Amino acid sequence: MSFQYDERLDGPLPTHDKAALVAELGALLPDLQLLHATEDLRPFECDGLSAYRTTPMMVALPGRVEQVQALLKFATARNVPVVARGAGTGLSGGAMPLEKGILLVMARFNRILDIDPEAGTARVQPGVRNLAISQAAAPHGLYYAPDPSSQIACSIGGNVAENAGGVHCLKYGLTVHNILKVEILTIDGERLTLGSEALDSPGFDLLALFTGSEGMLGIVVEVTVKLLTRPQSAKVLLASFDDIGKAGDAVAQIIGAGVIPGGLEMMDNLSIRAAEDFIKAGYPVDAEAILLCELDGAESDVREDCDRVGALLRTAGATDIRIAQDEAERQRFWAGRKNAFPAVGRISPDYYCMDGTIPRRELARVLKGIAELSAEYGLRVANVFHAGDGNMHPLILFDANAPGELDRAEALGARILELCVAVGGSITGEHGVGREKINQMCAQFNSDEITLFHALKAAFDPARLLNPGKNIPTLHRCAEFGSMHVHHGALPFPELERF
Ligand SMILES: Cc1cc2nc3c(=O)[nH]c(=O)nc-3n(C[C@H](O)[C@H](O)[C@H](O)COP(=O)(O)OP(=O)(O)OC[C@H]3O[C@@H](n4cnc5c(N)ncnc54)[C@H](O)[C@@H]3O)c2cc1C
Repeated sequence: MSFQYDERLDGPLPTHDKAALVAELGALLPDLQLLHATEDLRPFECDGLSAYRTTPMMVALPGRVEQVQALLKFATARNVPVVARGAGTGLSGGAMPLEKGILLVMARFNRILDIDPEAGTARVQPGVRNLAISQAAAPHGLYYAPDPSSQIACSIGGNVAENAGGVHCLKYGLTVHNILKVEILTIDGERLTLGSEALDSPGFDLLALFTGSEGMLGIVVEVTVKLLTRPQSAKVLLASFDDIGKAGDAVAQIIGAGVIPGGLEMMDNLSIRAAEDFIKAGYPVDAEAILLCELDGAESDVREDCDRVGALLRTAGATDIRIAQDEAERQRFWAGRKNAFPAVGRISPDYYCMDGTIPRRELARVLKGIAELSAEYGLRVANVFHAGDGNMHPLILFDANAPGELDRAEALGARILELCVAVGGSITGEHGVGREKINQMCAQFNSDEITLFHALKAAFDPARLLNPGKNIPTLHRCAEFGSMHVHHGALPFPELERF
């Protein structure tokens, strides 16, 4: 399996004389920052999925919307593919460039245009970092709820394109639930407004369609986000378990009891140790699994919920339960979780982060399945994930320099995703399909559904110039991949009975 653009499977791309294109674009937009020398292009070869790299034909770093507009019109006229990039933290190769395309970097659009405390909204440019929105809103007692662990770096434009989630999305929703309006440019440079300041707007819900469309339908140039009032109180419980299955069952019991925590996250022993070694969060390194459960709201409700959840955790078999004693300890507990990916990066030369969702009731069974697959492929897997919404992030540890290990990691990742689909889940929870999971789309959707996705794409971008080869596989690719469609577990994952 390879994540490079494959013209045989993904459709041919137009070929151009690079020097002529650079000269033409330079003449059209003399003040556009344009990189085309090989050494300048290197930093843009990959996103967060760094095992796969492609040198783009050129990189454009516009600073004004009119420049983006002119560039898109130019690309349409010359039939040149365009890949958008925000901060490049994506984990599915969504911003991986094309050898035959322009990489359009939106990072310079980093201004917060307006904060309206009364309406509880902020109007921001697409390159604004996720965390910067909450920082700017803090003096008003407000914040932006979706908080990907990469929030210090990732951009809101990338969040919209990936429908990003985070620790607090269980209670407060994903990006799609926290934005009101986006301004986009279509591939031919038309400016469109999707959504409105009101909660609903007439016509098809194009904002929902666009959110999570991975740079394939248009370029985000402005986002209006919702801001929430900071909860009066927030407490975090840290529960230890001697068995990961018990921790999985505890998650279902908490939600089943009608408590919706602000965040409900699980880490297994490998990730607990890695995070503790890195962050000194105060985690119990001997626990097989921990659950971090945040309860927020009015002070009296939080106290009551803490008692209820504490009792549920004890009944579920928690061996120890601690409540963060002050804000500093609460932040430390979360810092361990939020830094778990880089922490795992310290214990392995490479890791490959998967992202699948499953129904919560299947957590224990799927974790057992992952452990068995890990043994079968001879690669360690660290589990750290949004347990409350069933969004798994198995991190497959490997060494890209060891012959065959990358292939084994990919194969193991594919099996894990197919396991998620087989139990009624999906191949992505928040990281998107990008280049990485394009083959697994053939397992998730049937050919009629994939044909419909292509028709939607064609309505925005008939010449398929925006981010081609990502997100939606061609039917040819699915036929070649030989995948069986396993929607709702209708077809069996061969080993499912074992787990
Ligand atoms: C350590 C780590 C932790 C992470 N944790 C989380 C997490 O908890 N939750 C989560 O959801 N994700 C997480 N991610 C993944 C990543 O941060 C998110 O997918 C994020 O939304 C990507 O934003 P970005 O600005 O880096 O986008 P990029 O990686 O630059 O691009 C991502 C996609 O968006 C498109 N795009 C970017 N900007 C625009 C634009 N202006 N218009 C149109 N399309 C655009 C690109 O074409 C690409 O398809 C994590 C990543 C890392 C490295």
